[in-house]
Amino acid sequence: MLERSGECHQCGECCQGLRLTAVLSQALSQHRTMDELKLYYNYRNIKVIGTLPEKDYLFLELSIPCNQLDPSNRCLVHDSPDLKPFLCHAYPTEPDNIPECGYQFSPKTIL
Ligand code: SF4
Ligand code: SF4
Repeated sequence: MLERSGECHQCGECCQGLRLTAVLSQALSQHRTMDELKLYYNYRNIKVIGTLPEKDYLFLELSIPCNQLDPSNRCLVHDSPDLKPFLCHAYPTEPDNIPECGYQFSPKTIL
């Protein structure tokens, strides 16, 4: 189990794309192979960021920056709890590959 520390310093990096989980077997049945799927998705600006075959998950990222980012990449609703979505308040819940992120994760110490 991992424990989170640190804080959001509003780098805006996690707001550049929209991450979605799709059904791997269904996507493969549409595209026949992973290479074909990636070829098509690449043309549509959709990045395949991973799979979890045992759960039939396909992880995708769409290059759609949030419309709440200001020109300097800061969140316009960061200081407005009622306007900032729950997901954004909770993010990240696990390590992400964003070097700029102000959060770190370390194994939880059990006392
Ligand atoms: S609402 Fe703010 S924190 Fe959430 S994705 Fe948009 S810019 Fe990022
Ligand atoms: S990547 Fe981390 S520090 Fe940057 S905006 Fe997202 S949560 Fe905040």
